[in-house]
Amino acid sequence: MKVVKSIVQLGLCSLFFTSFLNHSTELKSPIAIAIHGGAGTISKANLTPEQEQQYKDTLAQAVKAGYAVLLSGQSSIVAVKTSINILENSPLFNAGLGAVYTYEGKHELDASIMEGRNRNAGAVAAITNVKNPIDAALAVMQNSVHVMLSGTGAETFAQEQGLELVSNDYFDTPFRYEALKRARIKLEADKSAWLDPSMNDYKFGTVGTVALDKNGDLAAGTSTGGMTAKRYGRIGDAPVIGAGTFADNQSCAVSATGHGEFFIRYAVASDICARMKYSGLSLEEAANQVIFDVLAPVGGDGGVIALDAEGNIATPFNTEGMYRASIDKQGVMSVQIYKVQK
Ligand code: ASP
Repeated sequence: MKVVKSIVQLGLCSLFFTSFLNHSTELKSPIAIAIHGGAGTISKANLTPEQEQQYKDTLAQAVKAGYAVLLSGQSSIVAVKTSINILENSPLFNAGLGAVYTYEGKHELDASIMEGRNRNAGAVAAITNVKNPIDAALAVMQNSVHVMLSGTGAETFAQEQGLELVSNDYFDTPFRYEALKRARIKLEADKSAWLDPSMNDYKFGTVGTVALDKNGDLAAGTSTGGMTAKRYGRIGDAPVIGAGTFADNQSCAVSATGHGEFFIRYAVASDICARMKYSGLSLEEAANQVIFDVLAPVGGDGGVIALDAEGNIATPFNTEGMYRASIDKQGVMSVQIYKVQK
């Protein structure tokens, strides 16, 4: 009994100490994190209350896990990997398990990661058998002289790195297979249906994280199965540094989700950071400009999560909804799916 009591006391003490530490570091150097689980035609009408709760619970679990890493004093890169792994391992999101299907009924996964301290980056594209693609991107960044590896070469590298490999059907989910069948019917009738807003349901669900650690280092990462019924080895923005992912301590960290072709053409993630750096815009102004003034008029559906070196967070999107969660520099958690009514 005595032992139990002192364990409890010890636990309470360390809890108090941790929150004290957190509070004191908050004043000197803020920590913060934001995650997304994709943007698209996500409205209350499309989700049952149970589904909504499942999404919110998983987002909360991922953002808290990333924040715990930051609280423990580890780097923003570790926080990005930790939170993305949780989303990749959930069948709810279009990354890792639950990734969308290619036209041929397989899965090809893309991911990238970047650290703002030195602008190191790693990316993998069109890989088919690595359980957690963000780990492969991280291995490229940390253990290779390259930035982006693709296809079977990237898979050989991942194997050499000792990453967990799975067969392609590990990523299967019935829900995504139904989406493939519907998308194929539309695309068979009209090859340019990609640009039809009714295809939005089949595009999104990518996951990503931006984080700021106690050393003032920003990091960003993104992981995705891409777009349903993609063909011909199509690669989206998620593994393209500067398009779907970017981090620079001088400005901001960004992870994007949306119609990747537009995000590549408009270099979305790096453009947001460049607008802060060269035009002196705030994070929110820069992110809003790119999402609403640049992308929306040309039909570039999607959104971003963005975080600056002071711990400010912006999460604009021009679609109906975006799965997202954050824990800000005051330690306040927010988990949201739909637009916030102002
Ligand atoms: N941006 C991703 C892609 O185009 C899709 C997404 O965000 O869901 O591959």
